[in-house]
Amino acid sequence: AAERAAQRGLNWEKYVADDDGSWRLSLLGDLDRAIDHGEVWVAYQPKFDLATRTLMGAEALARWSHPERGDIRPDLFIPIVEENGRIEKLTLHVLHQAIRDFSDLDENLSVAVNISMRMIGRNRLVEPIRAMLERYHMDAQRLTLEITESAAPAGEAGIQELNRLRELGVNISIDDYGTGQSTLSYLKTLPATELKIDRSFVQLIRSSKSDATVVDSTIKLAHALGLRVVAEGVDSEETLALLEAMDCDIIQGFHIGEPTPLHAFLARLPTPSHRAASAS
Ligand code: C2E
Ligand code: MG
Ligand code: MG
Ligand code: MG
Repeated sequence: AAERAAQRGLNWEKYVADDDGSWRLSLLGDLDRAIDHGEVWVAYQPKFDLATRTLMGAEALARWSHPERGDIRPDLFIPIVEENGRIEKLTLHVLHQAIRDFSDLDENLSVAVNISMRMIGRNRLVEPIRAMLERYHMDAQRLTLEITESAAPAGEAGIQELNRLRELGVNISIDDYGTGQSTLSYLKTLPATELKIDRSFVQLIRSSKSDATVVDSTIKLAHALGLRVVAEGVDSEETLALLEAMDCDIIQGFHIGEPTPLHAFLARLPTPSHRAASAS
């Protein structure tokens, strides 16, 4: 399929959309192998606490370094994996790496893992997460699950499962808030602890008065509901200052740091004690 794509002068990303399915199938077959061979790894993007002016943790972002196709972005492979009901192995792989990596670090550092809505409500998360936290002796409060609003609403089973995750002590974040379906009804129904405002709003607050008003009001609404607020996609000092004035709690974005391998994230932490046992 790769040769055919090249012959047709297509980049392979485009080819995924065009193909009869054969490329998708090989991609999926590759994924299982890739996970087993360590080609799927986790990048960490720092999260910065505006009140204390320190890095308070990171978001784990899946990366697939394919031997022939190079780096494959998650925006491309995750939807394919989701559509084909194969998201579970990837999710557990990323959770395992993130929990293992952070369990060694300072207990004030937390890690966030993205969970596809399709994984929620099938009773496949609570027990593995509980077992991983126990195995690595990590406090549940140090783990946040970021859930993106999607076409599929949570449903009764989904809400129940999220409640059980909350009972474990894990934090629940509503990711990419403001895009997609959910918005206000999600705020009411999901047992969330954090709201993450989508970067499409955040990046416009410098230039657009109405976007600034939307973000400012969203922060107030979230705080009134007892939620912590994270702004994603912060790419300038000016945006940081505006969010600080709006009383946003945590920011994330290229201005603070790009997603990097673990060692590069650790190198940014202020004291050696933060990296105590990380060499293992
Ligand atoms: P997300 O959870 O909203 O993650 C933020 C994305 O925005 C990341 O892209 C990150 O690299 C990018 N980003 C962060 N700061 C900036 C910025 O200042 N400017 C710009 N232009 N971009 C920024 P990435 O790593 O390509 O991930 C894309 C999406 O793939 C994620 O969006 C998330 O929904 C999904 N994803 C990533 N890893 C996983 C995973 O392990 N499981 C699941 N289910 N989804 C994942
Ligand atoms: Mg996320
Ligand atoms: Mg997001
Ligand atoms: Mg986003």
